[in-house]
Amino acid sequence: MTGTGGTFSAESRLIHAGTARAPAEPAAPPLVPTSIYVSAGEPRRDRAYGREGNPGWEALEEALGGLEDAQAVAFASGQAASMALMLALCRGRDRVVLPADGYYGARVLADKLRPHGATPVHVDLGDLDAVARELKAVPSVLWAETPTNPLLRVADLAGLAEVAAAADAPMIVDNTTATSLLQRPLDWGAAASLYSLTKAISGHSDVIAGAVVSRDTELIDELRAWRTSGGGIPGPFEAWLALRGLKTLPLRIARQSDSALAIARHLADHPRVRAVHYPGVEPSTLALAARQMPDGFGPLLSFEVDTGTGEAGTGTGRAADRVVAGSGLILPATSFGGVESTWERRARWPGETAPDGLIRLSVGVEPAADLIADIDNALNALEEP
Ligand code: PLP
Repeated sequence: MTGTGGTFSAESRLIHAGTARAPAEPAAPPLVPTSIYVSAGEPRRDRAYGREGNPGWEALEEALGGLEDAQAVAFASGQAASMALMLALCRGRDRVVLPADGYYGARVLADKLRPHGATPVHVDLGDLDAVARELKAVPSVLWAETPTNPLLRVADLAGLAEVAAAADAPMIVDNTTATSLLQRPLDWGAAASLYSLTKAISGHSDVIAGAVVSRDTELIDELRAWRTSGGGIPGPFEAWLALRGLKTLPLRIARQSDSALAIARHLADHPRVRAVHYPGVEPSTLALAARQMPDGFGPLLSFEVDTGTGEAGTGTGRAADRVVAGSGLILPATSFGGVESTWERRARWPGETAPDGLIRLSVGVEPAADLIADIDNALNALEEP
């Protein structure tokens, strides 16, 4: 944003990112679908070939970076962002320490990169002593995630940052479920925040994109170099869509967080539910979650269906499938963070370690009362033969 001196809040700056405040300039950041730019002689790196730069990426990066008083690098997907970050940070380090119950795609990726560098080690992020032990054994990277997908477990960012610093290990935080509006990992000591922009940040289930945000200029330069060499660039249209979506994130995430909390509280008392996972209803981490996410707990929650035994045993998977198929409003679909509510039984994915009967629900912007009625209908149908 030009001309406002950066004195306004990050949310205001976000709305104006990518707009040049000069006569005749478009208010809406333009879509620039080009693979080449007019250039002769010594090339200007970001305006010669489209793999090196696009005005739409820059506008999106300005907006994302501004939310954390940092710089951002946009990628083709969350996984492309993770790959660049793992390649950049694991060089010269032997180990990447990841949560055993976080996003399974990160574990799959770390396994694939193993022959080229660091060995993945899975830990419980809630056990700071175990994390410290694993980090201290050899030079490591700490790949944290909070709240985790799909169990929504909250990890202590200050505690993790402390054990990471003691082991001289950079800490990255996958901040996809919270978004930078609800949680700012860099303020707690993370070297970088990682985002799947596919989720709440773009928010309309119409784009796959990712980003890394950091205050470490060397790391940012290295990530840009990986993006250029590896080619994991966002398409101009995807970047444009992501920025368009991002501008309404403050409005969406507030409503989604309020509705998700109301739904989690409702489910906690439901006779067909044996466990609810949401930072706002988990007593053991509620105070921590409120400190780290003072403005809300986000759109994602999960719960385990009770087949009548009160246990996570046989039949819960089938029962959960019936519940998911029984909604009339919530869309049976994967991913999360969109304006439309979606849900799925997580264990249907090979490689996912979630309990069999666990349903992950992404709360959209429909009125909470409609969502609760839809959930109740689907759950209560379990009574029928
Ligand atoms: N991080 C988390 C927490 C995710 O849930 C996902 C995707 O589901 C990713 C990263 C990867 O993002 P993408 O699908 O945009 O590659």
